[in-house]
Amino acid sequence: MKVDVLVVGLGPAGATTLKKLAEIADSELSILGVDKRERPGFPVQCGEFMPSPEEMALLTPNVPDARHFFTFDQKYISSRTNRISFHSPLGKIIQTPFEGYTLHRGAWNEDLLKSAGREGAKVWKESRVIRKDNNSVWISREGSSPECIQAQVIVGADGARSRVARGSELAENRNSEHFVYVKQHVMTNIDSQKYDPTDIQMFFGRNYAPGAYAWVIPKNENTANVGVGLRTPMSKGRITVSQTLENFITRHPHVSNLVKNATIESTIGGLVPVGLPFKRTVDERSGTVLVGDSACQVVSSVGGGIPTSMVAGSIAADTIYSYLTGKGTLLDYQVLWKNQMMTMFTRAYKLRRLFDKISSGSDERVQWYLNRLRSSDVNAVVHCRVPLKVTLGFPFIKYINLFIK
Ligand SMILES: Cc1cc2nc3c(=O)[nH]c(=O)nc-3n(C[C@H](O)[C@H](O)[C@H](O)COP(=O)(O)OP(=O)(O)OC[C@H]3O[C@@H](n4cnc5c(N)ncnc54)[C@H](O)[C@@H]3O)c2cc1C
Repeated sequence: MKVDVLVVGLGPAGATTLKKLAEIADSELSILGVDKRERPGFPVQCGEFMPSPEEMALLTPNVPDARHFFTFDQKYISSRTNRISFHSPLGKIIQTPFEGYTLHRGAWNEDLLKSAGREGAKVWKESRVIRKDNNSVWISREGSSPECIQAQVIVGADGARSRVARGSELAENRNSEHFVYVKQHVMTNIDSQKYDPTDIQMFFGRNYAPGAYAWVIPKNENTANVGVGLRTPMSKGRITVSQTLENFITRHPHVSNLVKNATIESTIGGLVPVGLPFKRTVDERSGTVLVGDSACQVVSSVGGGIPTSMVAGSIAADTIYSYLTGKGTLLDYQVLWKNQMMTMFTRAYKLRRLFDKISSGSDERVQWYLNRLRSSDVNAVVHCRVPLKVTLGFPFIKYINLFIK
């Protein structure tokens, strides 16, 4: 079978690409989207947090009409938040204003696919890509033997372990430092007396999030996404991500109290790529384009990839259409996403590297550094900026670390 465009993976990146491409192509192109899941978008492997359109306009000023672009229909918003709290290992809390919301991400993802279908795109569920070679992809539908699909353009939107990226030689070798293992419960019946559903809470410390952070992201007045992240170079095999989450909900002084009478509705796990995006995200020879996690387009300081997948997917759709109608090249995709998001990715990566220097030691070390941060510094950090005092103090970090192990 031959199609003009094949989109592999229908999470936020693939679904955005498919929907926008189907809309602008207006049945001029044959477009197929495939996903290995029975119900793409579910289960929701995500904290579902999104900065508000105003915050996104600050974070990505080069995204055209960012306020409008990042505005979600009210029906996809489960809760609005207006603050982020950093909890240090020894219990200090630093708070800063930050507008955002928690999404009904699965419903939004599913509606993008329905809308792509109405615009003429085909969607194959339970269809797993087994192999990719140049512009051919082998897909097994519902476990059957693989069939070959050829496409003029192949979009790799198949997440952090992308087969398309590996099959097109765009993937860069990344070691374990560049991945966060995450696990999360959706917890309900949270004690509303102890809980502020407008507050995003982030927790630091070796026992609850070695090399990363743990979170409580409100979904409504008594339900939250409660999760932890772990990087193996920092956990050194001492603890698994499941044990870390168990520690977090049963032993963390603040969180164990918060969720004491709560019940676990569901549990998911996942992998978040936290390196810089790949340098090459287009292979012109095989007509391959990578979007979202498959290209590591993630804000690595916080592991956020929904808004960046939306931007990348939207740009991919525009450039693929221009390319197939003879008005542009596929490389335009790479130029445009870098123009709109690379500054944010680079700053976030710098912050993540800085955090590594701090978090590679004891909780006392993390505490010592966090004790020096004020609300305005945390505000800079959540806007992907390195606070001035951190820039000035940077040359001394290695000496401080000698004293505070
Ligand atoms: C627990 C967790 C919490 C997170 N919290 C947040 C948050 O609060 N805010 C935020 O912005 N980001 C968050 N992220 C990151 C965010 O979820 C990702 O960056 C985002 O989902 C990337 O979208 P994507 O479409 O590129 O990849 P994915 O969402 O991973 O989608 C990839 C799709 O490809 C499909 N697929 C994979 N392999 C194949 C194959 N071989 N054949 C066919 N289909 C395939 C999968 O089934 C999946 O549907 C979180 C991630 C995790 C794991």
